This record gives sequence, structure tokens and C-alpha cells, in this order.
Amino acid sequence: MKIICIGRNYTEHIKELANERPSDPVVFIKPDSAILPKEQDFFIPEFTEDVHYEVEILVKIKKVGKHIDPKFAHTYYDEIGLGIDFTARDVQAQLKEKGLPWEKAKGFDGSAVIGNWLPKSDFKDLNHLAFSLLKNGVTVQKGNTCHMIWKIDPLVAYVSKYFTLKKGDILFTGTPAGVGKIMPNDYLSGVLEGHEMFFVKIK
Ligand code: ZN
Repeated sequence: MKIICIGRNYTEHIKELANERPSDPVVFIKPDSAILPKEQDFFIPEFTEDVHYEVEILVKIKKVGKHIDPKFAHTYYDEIGLGIDFTARDVQAQLKEKGLPWEKAKGFDGSAVIGNWLPKSDFKDLNHLAFSLLKNGVTVQKGNTCHMIWKIDPLVAYVSKYFTLKKGDILFTGTPAGVGKIMPNDYLSGVLEGHEMFFVKIK
């Protein structure tokens, strides 16, 4: 399986990193080795001094699709989740400066936290999902899918123009504002519409 991630999908997050608003979705891939095994602590890698959390809504693809029409995109997924796109911000800054690919900053081992899944039928409107990230019990990120520049269905359609989607692939849909650094002994938990979706300890 593969993990397809969207960058710069919330205006307030684009502003906080002083990035340009893209005219098309920013897309990158994490390998399956990036998945943090369930119930495992996250160890800050030795090559970075500045790992940031980015809480994101996740979509699990349920069947093969290529060149998906946006109006049928909803038939390609049944489950919605919440996760973290851990980012080595210092490494990413160096790569960005040189115009190099971001993989070392985004695709390293453990960088993809994938929480529980909920059936999409549990939600009235996928374009109105409230979610948040708590660090040591304090809310640090608050988002709502209504603020996405590209909503879930257009994203599924868009990425399928470039990558054949396969059953089990996961789409990370971008992070809202409030990203920040983690330190050893921090713990992070994610909440989607009142459901705790993951809990991660930092080492
Ligand atoms: Zn992200």
C-alpha cells in the first residue's frame, strides 16, 4: 500500500509557514515503512532537532481507481480516520531551500500515525468534520474539513490522475494551523467529532 499526502490544504497553515498558496494540490508520498506500528511509541530520529506534529483527516481507499470522476469519488472510500504526518521541519527547510524532494523530512520510519477508522456513514457531512490534536492534554491544533481548500472528493479524484489508487491506500488530507515541535515525554492524542482516534507517546 501507499500513503498519499496533501500539503498546504488549509489557508491558516499556509500562512503560519509563510508558504505560497498553491494553484494545484501539493502531493507527496510516504512509503508503507513510515507507518508507526499500533501501540508503539514514536522515537525522535537522530537526524533532526525539530520534529513537528501535523494532525490530518485520513481516507482509506477501498477499491482500485484511476482517473476517478469527482462525482464518483465517494464510492472509493468507506472509512475516515485521523492521523499525524510527522515532519522533520529542519530537514524539510533545507530541502525546500535547495528545491529538493521532501522524502527524508516526511517519509522516515514512524512518520505516519494512523489512528482508528470510523465508517463514513457515522457522519452527516464529511465536509464538516471537526478534529483536534492535544499535546500533553492541551489542544494545540483545531481543524474542520469545511476549511480545506480542496475537499475530500476532489482530492481523491485529483490524486488518481497521477497514481492508481489501490485498496488499502491511505490519503492524508493536509493539516490545519497550529503545527509545532515535539519533545521526549510528550504525548499526543487526536479527536475526531468527539472520538479519541489515537494516542502516541514521544521518546
Ligand atoms: Zn501534512
